[in-house]
Amino acid sequence: MTAATKKRVTILGATGTIGQNTLDLIERNQEAFEIIALTGNKNIDLLAKNAIETKAEFVATADPSQYKALKASLSGTNIRCAAGKEGLEEAASLQSDMCMAAIVGVAGLAPTLKALENTKCLALANKECLVSAGALFMAKAKASNAALIPVDSEHSGAYQCLVAEQPDNIHKLTLTASGGPFRTATVNQLNEVTKQQALKHPNWEMGAKITIDSATLMNKGLELIEAKYLFSLQPDQVDMLVHPQSIIHCLVAMQDGSILAQMSEPDMRVPISYSLAWPGRMKTPIAPVDLTKLGQLTFEKGDPERFPCLELAKQALYNSESRGPVLNAANEVAVEAFLKEKITFMAIPEVISSVMDRFENQQLGGNSLTLSDIISLDQEARQLACDLLKFAA
Ligand code: NAD
Ligand code: MG
Repeated sequence: MTAATKKRVTILGATGTIGQNTLDLIERNQEAFEIIALTGNKNIDLLAKNAIETKAEFVATADPSQYKALKASLSGTNIRCAAGKEGLEEAASLQSDMCMAAIVGVAGLAPTLKALENTKCLALANKECLVSAGALFMAKAKASNAALIPVDSEHSGAYQCLVAEQPDNIHKLTLTASGGPFRTATVNQLNEVTKQQALKHPNWEMGAKITIDSATLMNKGLELIEAKYLFSLQPDQVDMLVHPQSIIHCLVAMQDGSILAQMSEPDMRVPISYSLAWPGRMKTPIAPVDLTKLGQLTFEKGDPERFPCLELAKQALYNSESRGPVLNAANEVAVEAFLKEKITFMAIPEVISSVMDRFENQQLGGNSLTLSDIISLDQEARQLACDLLKFAA
């Protein structure tokens, strides 16, 4: 990557795992990037520290009650700051060459849509945007001038495989899953899982919500929906395989019988670097995979009986315009309740399934859902999940 002109970068969700990995890569390549804006939520010390170190122009916290603390932490600098929804919107409105969308959950939807209008390249880590609002999001991305580069490792892998391919030639896209910490657990063991055990992912360092999603395999279900939208595929053209080594991230079977695959160590800095350097590549501290050291790569099917979340997401895949927002909202509420130790691990799919059932017969408008329809649906499903939790507790 040449340093002639620095890329101006905004990071939405800078204090999270993806945000910090993005800052790590930028720190190592300061001649190529400069930070325009950073956003965070409650971790004000880290947000202010990162803003000062990177000489950001603007910084926002999503939490209005943290505004004073943020302002105080930035005193003596000329970094502008703001808070709340307006603060996030302002960060996303600043013109940038590249915006990393790495807020967790549907909370990231509005700012990420705004960023599409104001950046040349949207690096999308926030999968909940596509699960909740895939059709709308892709239409907005198409109408904008921004390139849309996936950051999720499987989707980045697929994107890399498909750079020189015609989309019509894709037969099937298979995302791999590590299987999480309970890959070999029995149903009885899954009933006894603790929060600490669920937060210990064998291969990846990630935020709490996605770590639990990986343990239930909901993460892979969300990713199937994400892939369907990103690559304009039919539901039966996306599938998953458990691959415990997390070396191959995606397998793209083409019509002629070839399978293209992307491999790298399980370190998010590889896909993040691809989005930062796109359409080029940049150096990272991660060495290419040493296959002789690995010896073997193994694959197995996902088990819907032990991991019902995967099955629930697969059902939503077939009607994802209206089922996606419901699935996502119910999952966000259930995972938060599990993290607060209010429900058991296996109650997560029960809550989601009950919420999905309540919406089963509703006519929800399919492809024509507007942003306000999606937000209402999200709120309604969230409320229903909260009501159900009182019984599941
Ligand atoms: P994280 O929990 O570590 O960080 C989340 C970020 O969002 C933080 O900056 C936090 O301050 C901010 N945030 C939290 N709640 C917010 C709210 N209500 N409003 C605005 N900002 C809020 O999460 P992460 O692991 O960095 O994941 C971020 C996104 O990227 C998720 O959608 C996740 O699914 C996706 N993703 C993550 C990984 C990974 O390896 N971590 C891999 C693939 C995709
Ligand atoms: Mg992934």
